Amino acid sequence: MALITAEDVSKNYHTGEINTQALSGVSVEIEPAAFVSFVGPSGSGKTTLLNLIGCLDKPTQGKISVDGRSVQDLNRKQAAVFRGSFFGFIFQAFNLFPVLSAYENVEYPLVMVKNETASERSEQVLKVLEAVGMLEQKDKRPDQLSGGQKQRVAVARALVTRPKVVLADEPTANLDHKTAVTVIRLMRAMRDEFDTTFIFSTHDPTIMQEAEIIHTLKDGKLINSEKRLVRATEAQK
Ligand code: ADP
Ligand code: MG
Repeated sequence: MALITAEDVSKNYHTGEINTQALSGVSVEIEPAAFVSFVGPSGSGKTTLLNLIGCLDKPTQGKISVDGRSVQDLNRKQAAVFRGSFFGFIFQAFNLFPVLSAYENVEYPLVMVKNETASERSEQVLKVLEAVGMLEQKDKRPDQLSGGQKQRVAVARALVTRPKVVLADEPTANLDHKTAVTVIRLMRAMRDEFDTTFIFSTHDPTIMQEAEIIHTLKDGKLINSEKRLVRATEAQK
């Protein structure tokens, strides 16, 4: 059964007298442990769709179901609680706290949502930092890390609560191409290790090729869905 279903979803934004149709009749299904990309040029609706899936906003029309819940029916508080337990987020601009170390940045979501002791948290934080290859840098602050290292920390932070789904809106847009490919492959390796569903967006044609399923948006419509076979050797690089 699909983990996430969007059914004929539309989203309009009203600013003053201007009405923008950001999404129009989008239907899509995402399976558990999928590695999926939404692609399309700037303004095609990628961020809007990820925000709807991540319960940060509600559709104007249509239905979004996440793990059997009709998420458009949740009130703000219910949406916030569900979001915190079900999703991890990775952002284009990394969004790490500059005054916290890599370790503390990764620990932060655990401090916020879970009632655990420091030593219980430590076990989980060190495990994900090791998984993303950042254990040795754990005491460094973001300004002491490269862009790729920052995004590795952000991947660890998104995973530390063991979310079912990680949403990553243009996670490689601030990285050079080689680093971008490395970070996307790291995300895929994390999917393999933790069975986490990864949904990311990009407008970079070479980055989208790293996804197993590519959904293309254009002017707010889903115009193509393509399944790719990512070779094991490619995935291990
Ligand atoms: P993408 O992420 O693919 O660049 P977006 O989802 O950000 O696309 O935007 C889709 C369309 O919706 C664009 O025309 C954009 O200008 C518009 N839009 C996005 N967010 C808002 C908003 N908060 N208010 C008004 N218009 C918006
Ligand atoms: Mg966007």
